[in-house]
Amino acid sequence: MSELTRETIFALSSGKPPAAIGVIRISGPRAGEALKALAGKIPPPRRATLARLRKSDGEILDDALVLWFPAPNSETGEDVVELQLHGGRAVIAAVVGSLSQLSGLRMAEAGEFTRRAFENGKLDLTAVEGLADLVMAETEGQRRQAFRQVTGILGNSAENWRRQLIQALALIEAGIDFADEADVPHDLVAPALRIARSLNGEIASTLADQNRGERLREGLVVAIAGPPNAGKSTLLNRIAKREAAIVSPHAGTTRDVIEVHLDLVGLPVTLLDTAGIRETNDPLELEGVRRARERAGDADLVLWVVDAASAMDEQSLPRAKTAGHAPPVWLVRNKSDLIQNDRIRNEPSDQSNRNNEPGLQTNRSLKNLISEKLTEKNEFEFNWNELEFDISAVTGDGLARLFEQLTRYAEDFLSGAESALVTRERHRRLLGNAWAALQRALEPKISDQEDLIAEELRTAARALGRLTGRIDVEDVLDSIFRDFCIGK
Ligand code: GDP
Repeated sequence: MSELTRETIFALSSGKPPAAIGVIRISGPRAGEALKALAGKIPPPRRATLARLRKSDGEILDDALVLWFPAPNSETGEDVVELQLHGGRAVIAAVVGSLSQLSGLRMAEAGEFTRRAFENGKLDLTAVEGLADLVMAETEGQRRQAFRQVTGILGNSAENWRRQLIQALALIEAGIDFADEADVPHDLVAPALRIARSLNGEIASTLADQNRGERLREGLVVAIAGPPNAGKSTLLNRIAKREAAIVSPHAGTTRDVIEVHLDLVGLPVTLLDTAGIRETNDPLELEGVRRARERAGDADLVLWVVDAASAMDEQSLPRAKTAGHAPPVWLVRNKSDLIQNDRIRNEPSDQSNRNNEPGLQTNRSLKNLISEKLTEKNEFEFNWNELEFDISAVTGDGLARLFEQLTRYAEDFLSGAESALVTRERHRRLLGNAWAALQRALEPKISDQEDLIAEELRTAARALGRLTGRIDVEDVLDSIFRDFCIGK
């Protein structure tokens, strides 16, 4: 769209009023005019200036700090005005109302400022994604990771690789042009393949990060699973210190998967409370159980919660659905408060029970059942981990150790994640495409077919171009910008 026909957009860019300050941004060719209409003047560029804003009939709107960023030195690359107003609802509504009356101005859509910044070459697509992540970052680890993306850590590498690929391509194309002169092509293909080989290696090592970047961005997923009434929801509530899951004495009330986001020493952990996994005919519950199994199977860690006071049976066993992915399982024996009470009650009168106290028996029978299951090659396999915990979700007993281990696990799992370049599935897929194309270009069987090599190099360059948004972006743009809020 040309500068003249392009609409000027505005929005409240700060949080929900009322607040001390409300920031309205205006971007586009009429931003300066709009500022002049409200403030009666345009201050020097990039200088915070106090101005009295008025409606078109002269009535005072507010005293505001105004900033003027003429194109192209602005966030969006267009003329930008920033109004720092008193953050009351009526103040903001009045200024928004006045702006709406100016011709050529309209309210911005979600992510539209950032979209313009991208379209004007201020940000590449990976930086745009980083910006979205920065706004959403909940922990220190996520904040640092997002900031690295905003500064172009992946985008710059991808652009650099793409440039090298284009050089390699130029060599080969020169070779094809010189095809008549016997020796020239080969001399040009060899250096091109050297470039391809080194890029292939670099991309492969970027991808060999065990998905840590994605995990840091999305949070390590810990599923709380186990039979109904074991105390999973109570445990989740206790951990989250808020009423996130329904706690009920009736079996099977937690029908859906409930998520709680935790910040463990700066590392994001998403706790899932899965519906009590058990046989059921209730269709609603069946769906809950299906989702619970699926989520538990996909998790990075499963806390298998059992009621230490009740006998173990088949249904108490962990099962996961995903073949090929076996998350470690920690056994969490809950309701230790009840066991201790039983023990006190039983000890004086029942001598035979001494070596057969409920906790031990439960533990032994559970382990037997599990090993039987595993040797039978159960349809689902879990990676049974030796860690075991005795806790009481009600009194909080034993939770400190569980937390300590969870934190350690998150630290181990996410170590090095901040330096990982790949933070999204989109990155992984496109880098994977580039790597595969380079791999094909390096196949010995096509080493004397310059046109085939050139085609593969072009495919690889296209994948990298898509990664930074240089080419073919329309399809991904909407999905990326949808995640933004209005005013960003
Ligand atoms: P879920 O179905 O596994 O999510 O189990 P809930 O969290 O709904 O708990 C089932 C029942 O066990 C509720 O009545 C809880 O109050 C109770 N409960 C949970 N944890 C404990 C515990 O550590 N000690 C005792 N005494 N009761 C518990």
